[in-house]
Amino acid sequence: MKNSSQPSPPKLFSHLYIERDVVDHPQSQMIRRKFADSQVILIDHYKEVFNRPSQSFAAQSHSKKLILARREGKFLHEGSQYSDGFDYQQFFYASSVMGCLYDCDYCYLQGLYPSANTVLFVNLEDAFEQLRPYLGKATLVATSYDTDTLAIESLTHQTSMWLDFADQYENLYLEIRTKSANIKSLRSIFPNPRVTLAWTLSPQEIVDRYEHATPSLEKRLGAVAEAITLGWKVRLCIDPVIYTEKFAILYPELIEQIFRTIDPEAIEHLTLGSFRMSQTHLRSLKKLRRSDVAFYPYIVRDEMATYPEAIETHILETLLAKATQYLPKERIRTWQRQS
Ligand code: SF4
Repeated sequence: MKNSSQPSPPKLFSHLYIERDVVDHPQSQMIRRKFADSQVILIDHYKEVFNRPSQSFAAQSHSKKLILARREGKFLHEGSQYSDGFDYQQFFYASSVMGCLYDCDYCYLQGLYPSANTVLFVNLEDAFEQLRPYLGKATLVATSYDTDTLAIESLTHQTSMWLDFADQYENLYLEIRTKSANIKSLRSIFPNPRVTLAWTLSPQEIVDRYEHATPSLEKRLGAVAEAITLGWKVRLCIDPVIYTEKFAILYPELIEQIFRTIDPEAIEHLTLGSFRMSQTHLRSLKKLRRSDVAFYPYIVRDEMATYPEAIETHILETLLAKATQYLPKERIRTWQRQS
């Protein structure tokens, strides 16, 4: 059933901007066929459109345009202090898309990019070339960085391309982070035990209030259950936790709801972490969005904005106490600022 408090989904890609250099790339051609009714505009460089001054992130969120481009520099970025590298010898994010179909109030992309439009770098083969020299050691790559790749998989097929690539390299581990319920593309793929599908889950009230255009909690849990049945390794992420007046009710209830549907034995990890953001991105977020998430009185240390330590500790203790009713502590990962 459609949730009436959700805004209408954004109108998808009425315009395709395509760099002349990639017009003939097979992925560009495939996307053009899918959006046969969209207006195509050829450009020299994606920055002409994406970095145009005086764009309105909020207005563009309701009518996103798609830009197809060639990534010229690095596809891979080293893991950051804001996330967990799960103790692999090497940890990278791969960035082949800029922008996201979803529209979360707390998303740092709004502070990072001048535009809500989506840039898809079609030359994923260059990401694989850049990664190959590292694959002598156990390497984790988070492929859904700065976006939600599963949400646009039917358009890009990039997740499938990553899965094909991972099949060839026994040291390569992938994490595919998502809020999507769209796992159709995974039904025909044999699950790779070195690939983890990681779902971000939030109480439905938080989804309604802050995670615009995303699938409901119920739909996400349905996708989680199906992925497990298909044989995929699954991680659940209650991260970021958004601290509201109803935190102590909503989040423990979320954990109960998850494990009413999902067998705890079937998941690899549960990760817990409260909202955090670089001070620079938070400043931009405040200019763009009148959301209470942006205006909470965070504390800032070493450029990172987080909830005050007492609240952060309260969040983690509350959630750990609940989660350990279902899972052993070794399978629960927590993010907390190092003091
Ligand atoms: S799903 Fe993730 S990347 Fe997309 S808008 Fe939400 S927080 Fe940002």
